[in-house]
Amino acid sequence: MVADCLFCKIVAGEIGGKVIYDNDAVMAFEDLNPKAPTHVLVIPKKHLPDIGELGTDPQTATAVVAGVGAVAAELGLQSYRTVFNTGPGAGQTVFHVHAHVLAGRSLTWPPG
Ligand code: AMP
Ligand code: ZN
Repeated sequence: MVADCLFCKIVAGEIGGKVIYDNDAVMAFEDLNPKAPTHVLVIPKKHLPDIGELGTDPQTATAVVAGVGAVAAELGLQSYRTVFNTGPGAGQTVFHVHAHVLAGRSLTWPPG
């Protein structure tokens, strides 16, 4: 756990969240400020700051991707978008890597 990391605090149970999926390696919970009718965040329990660091840990990377699939199965999602914002210029505000899973409305391409 990293001090002052919001998502490490969620993993530790210090901050609540509506949990959608949980296993040894990952957690998925509803985004507090949803950008679509379904907006879930999938995070590794291990603190890694961004997708670049996640890529150096193949076991954890696989667990996060499998977690996205588990959320889709749990919620019965047929179509969904998965986003990793990386760096402030791309909108990353929490520096504990997370996959956004968005669904439930038309998702245009390219994104903004
Ligand atoms: P990003 O901007 O890509 O780093 O995504 C961070 C996301 O975390 C945003 O979509 C926020 O709405 C979400 N968020 C911030 N605090 C919480 C929280 N306590 N529980 C759930 N989601 C949160
Ligand atoms: Zn963290």
